[in-house]
Amino acid sequence: MTDLIGLYEKLEEAAPGRVRRNQAELCCYSGDASQVKGLPDFVVLPESTEEVSRIVKLAGEYEVPVTPRGAGTGLAGGAVPVRGGIVLDMSHMNHILEIDIADLQVVTEPGVIQDRLNQALKPYGFFFPPNPGSSAMCTVGGQIANNASGMRCVKYGTTKNYVLDLEVVLADGSVIHTGNRCLKTSSGYDLSRLFVGSEGTLGIITKAVLKISALPKCRKLVMVSFPTPEAAGRSVSLVFAAGVMPSACEILDRTSIKVLLKLDPDVILPKDGDVIIFEVDGSENAVNESAELIAGAVAEISSSVLIIDDPDEMQAVWDARKLLGAAVSKLDNTKTRIYLGEDLGVPIRKLPEMIEKVYEITGDLGLQPMIYGHVGDGTVHVGQFIDVLDPESWKKLEESADRLHLAAVSLGGTVSSEHGIGAARGEYLAAQCGHAFDVMRLIKKSLDPKGIFNPGKLGLWRKKQRRTGK
Ligand SMILES: Cc1cc2nc3c(=O)[nH]c(=O)nc-3n(C[C@H](O)[C@H](O)[C@H](O)COP(=O)(O)OP(=O)(O)OC[C@H]3O[C@@H](n4cnc5c(N)ncnc54)[C@H](O)[C@@H]3O)c2cc1C
Repeated sequence: MTDLIGLYEKLEEAAPGRVRRNQAELCCYSGDASQVKGLPDFVVLPESTEEVSRIVKLAGEYEVPVTPRGAGTGLAGGAVPVRGGIVLDMSHMNHILEIDIADLQVVTEPGVIQDRLNQALKPYGFFFPPNPGSSAMCTVGGQIANNASGMRCVKYGTTKNYVLDLEVVLADGSVIHTGNRCLKTSSGYDLSRLFVGSEGTLGIITKAVLKISALPKCRKLVMVSFPTPEAAGRSVSLVFAAGVMPSACEILDRTSIKVLLKLDPDVILPKDGDVIIFEVDGSENAVNESAELIAGAVAEISSSVLIIDDPDEMQAVWDARKLLGAAVSKLDNTKTRIYLGEDLGVPIRKLPEMIEKVYEITGDLGLQPMIYGHVGDGTVHVGQFIDVLDPESWKKLEESADRLHLAAVSLGGTVSSEHGIGAARGEYLAAQCGHAFDVMRLIKKSLDPKGIFNPGKLGLWRKKQRRTGK
């Protein structure tokens, strides 16, 4: 039996005045933006790498779990302490330490909020491109640990493409640097990539050196409406084949359009059909040329094309789009959006097939889906919403999630395009990875032999995770 009182006293010595154990405060850390739940024994708010190292050493000594947490906006229960123990709330390590334009990089602590980083970079004419829909809240540490991405990743890539170096506290409390400040390196295993997407299961990120990009001069939105969602899916390949690399490429099926117009009837959007919003950026000439090429590429299969370039109108479209995930409940206020089977990804040419399968599977089960997401990189978000008090609806939803994940795998796709595995879909990772999953377990075992970092995640323990919060 763990001596929790002894541990509390030592945690207080390690981070004086910043240890929480009051039930009400612990409850605030028992969830994230998913349905996964788990109560910690303690929450600690470290302010330095040294403090993190001391806390991790204590966790190892007492063999209690440590779950790092950024802003808790994750959609797979990654930051939820499903096996109790210590939650490390990294939000107090929130300083931008250096902006180094000459070397195209920034050095930040993990608790920096993504939008704040971009506000700080804007006066220099630069930005950190991976932009999740949660950018107003989520932290750089959470982004790295989830390899988060967003609307502009079709052109700019995901978080992993921007990480040059991470400072990481390992399970024995020691501290390593995974890379360096060069823009490229060919020296040994790529440890930065190992920690990107590791969801707090291998170590605690305490500092990051991130590459940045110059802000484009111009943007334009080309909003195209299609008679069917499959035709919308097909258009993505046609646009790539025309030689255009859009900076964003978002699908909004007709249900999504209905939800957005309920949210804001004045937002400029095609009112009928299934829509793809292509954004192009760059110089004025390049933007105009790309917009024309897109309109030409989709001419034969589209119903209408609407182009806007007013910055406020474009911002209103993106602001509305950012709210879409949760807003599906607007269609029926007795139902709640549940994040299960919501983050599929497939190769671009398989998009029409994946979209068809989403309608087929949800239709069989009598569920109404909403399809949206960054379809330019193969992401298919499926919004499903149910009466959470009805056990039958939960069963249907879980069956739908099972079938959707396996359908994505059968098309050569992924069970999580960007939200991560967490505790919500651990059982599907093995199905996607095959023997590579055993290699993941070996890596976990050698870096964290006592299993203190974020246990119960990624399916590494092969126990079916609690998914419904019941
Ligand atoms: C409205 C909404 C829209 C979203 N849109 C997108 C989107 O477009 N694209 C996308 O990719 N995601 C999206 N997400 C998911 C989520 O916001 C992102 O993955 C985000 O980057 C998580 O950041 P966070 O700070 O909230 O992390 P948390 O949820 O706190 O944690 C996420 C994971 O990172 C680990 N972690 C956190 N900090 C550290 C650290 N310092 N060291 C090691 N591990 C750590 C946690 O243990 C957990 O496993 C969205 C979520 C919401 C609610």
